[in-house]
Amino acid sequence: MQKLLYFIAFLCASQNLWATNYQAAQGDVLRVPAPISGEHLTVKALGKNWPIYHKDGQPIAWIGIHLNVKPATYDIQWFAGGAASVNQAVDKLDVKKGDFRISHIEVAKKMSSFDEEALQRIRADQASIKKAYKTNVAIKPQWPEMIWPVRGIISTPFAAQRYVNGNPRSPHSGLDIAAPTGTPVKAPLAGKVLLVEDMFLNGTLVTIGHGNGITTVYAHLNKSLVQVGDELKQGDVFAEVGSTGRSTGPHLHWGVQFNGNKVNPKAMLPLATPEP
Ligand SMILES: [Zn+2]
Repeated sequence: MQKLLYFIAFLCASQNLWATNYQAAQGDVLRVPAPISGEHLTVKALGKNWPIYHKDGQPIAWIGIHLNVKPATYDIQWFAGGAASVNQAVDKLDVKKGDFRISHIEVAKKMSSFDEEALQRIRADQASIKKAYKTNVAIKPQWPEMIWPVRGIISTPFAAQRYVNGNPRSPHSGLDIAAPTGTPVKAPLAGKVLLVEDMFLNGTLVTIGHGNGITTVYAHLNKSLVQVGDELKQGDVFAEVGSTGRSTGPHLHWGVQFNGNKVNPKAMLPLATPEP
């Protein structure tokens, strides 16, 4: 009994009782400063562990909220433990519904209803992208703040509910940035090329892995200037904007997956970055 009481007292003493409440919307990426310190610092939220980066000596977790996460309050669980001591804390995360738009596009019939051959290609394309997303990229840890890959007008925002020829489709998984064909596309962050392929709907597509579960995807390219395995520094030009695949005009489709969660690419830019 005494042992148990001692244990409870220990837990209370090491628990950070001053939880911070974070507010976010579906698709956001949060930067959360660690409320505790110690060896082997880890953070868990939404059922996953998240990477911790250091900025000016402060450990900061990056947490990506999938566009489909149910609006609710979640725990952000911190843990640090070495041989000598254990330290833990729980912050709170309020996720509200994203303010997502509705978008309608009209395309040729062969690009909206598919025969068996087209369906097979689409499924194979999806499997290639999925595989690329799961590829682990060993890269020097870098503060993952991105730059715009191209500058232009956002023609379809992130997570817009799309209707193709009047039929509802899955929400838009990235941002569409309109720009003339041939506009150079820059790596928004250092990384390694994971996939270069011509796809049925996505047209010419490139996927880049940036480490720590961060992967970016670029579709409808006029052409790719890189090959699988190439390493890129932030700002390196790796492709040209185009209108290949199912596309109604030259634009870049830019998507970001973070730890398997589809997030708004804009949320990876420095806070308060103006429109492209
Ligand atoms: Zn798009």
